Amino acid sequence: MKRRQFVKNGVISSAFVSTGGLTLSSCSGQKKHLTILHTNDVHSHIDAFPQDYADFPGLGGLARRAALVHKIREENPNTLLLDAGDIFQGTPYFNFYGGELEFKLMSKLKYDAATIGNHDFDNGIDGLLAQLPYASFDFLIANYDFSNTVMDGFTRPYNTYTKDGIKVGVYGLGIKLAGLVTQKLYNETQYLDPYEIATDMETRLKETEKCDLIICLSHLGYSYENENRRDDLTLGKRTKHTDLIIGGHTHTFLERPTIVTNANGRDIR
Ligand SMILES: [Zn+2]
Repeated sequence: MKRRQFVKNGVISSAFVSTGGLTLSSCSGQKKHLTILHTNDVHSHIDAFPQDYADFPGLGGLARRAALVHKIREENPNTLLLDAGDIFQGTPYFNFYGGELEFKLMSKLKYDAATIGNHDFDNGIDGLLAQLPYASFDFLIANYDFSNTVMDGFTRPYNTYTKDGIKVGVYGLGIKLAGLVTQKLYNETQYLDPYEIATDMETRLKETEKCDLIICLSHLGYSYENENRRDDLTLGKRTKHTDLIIGGHTHTFLERPTIVTNANGRDIR
């Protein structure tokens, strides 16, 4: 996987939520507009790519992202900003500061939530924990059981965010760490099957939390030929209430969201 090949400009999705198809708490009858901004696999790229960089000369970087996010929030304050993991590793900023800068800048950008990628364990689970005080956003991960680790109590499986009366539930899923990350880095973190956990999460968000929109922040990867590996495309087909999967890990560039038919026969993105 080429970690340099990260987000080109930040991917922007807009979900138009109308009262026609959804039961909204405000019941105003008006159309509502929620903007969902998301990044993934940023890999410590604080600066823009150099001008002589072959793929994306001069593009990217936190400053440009901040300006873009600010502009979009001015246009629509009902905006969510999410990250699908692998915040760490990729530039000397991480090697020197261990992720402090990444978390501080994401907090300044007012990210709402992120999930955890495999590279976020690159300084060990203690290294991740040490940077958490610099993050003012939620870490959502439903299928890592941190009970027997120092991370116990510092993440949550899901959270809900209400924008203009639209209740959005977001849950996080992480990739299988065994075979990908040295065990001494993640210690006793228990990986639970993401497909099963997704069903639990979306059912809870739909039925208990009464969310209008359900988003999965996934670091599973887009698609694999090996059926035993868990991926976003299969996840989308198996779930029933998840409306949008925001994925990372495989660094897959999509011109537009992929549409899959879920287990209820409904098209989701
Ligand atoms: Zn990854």
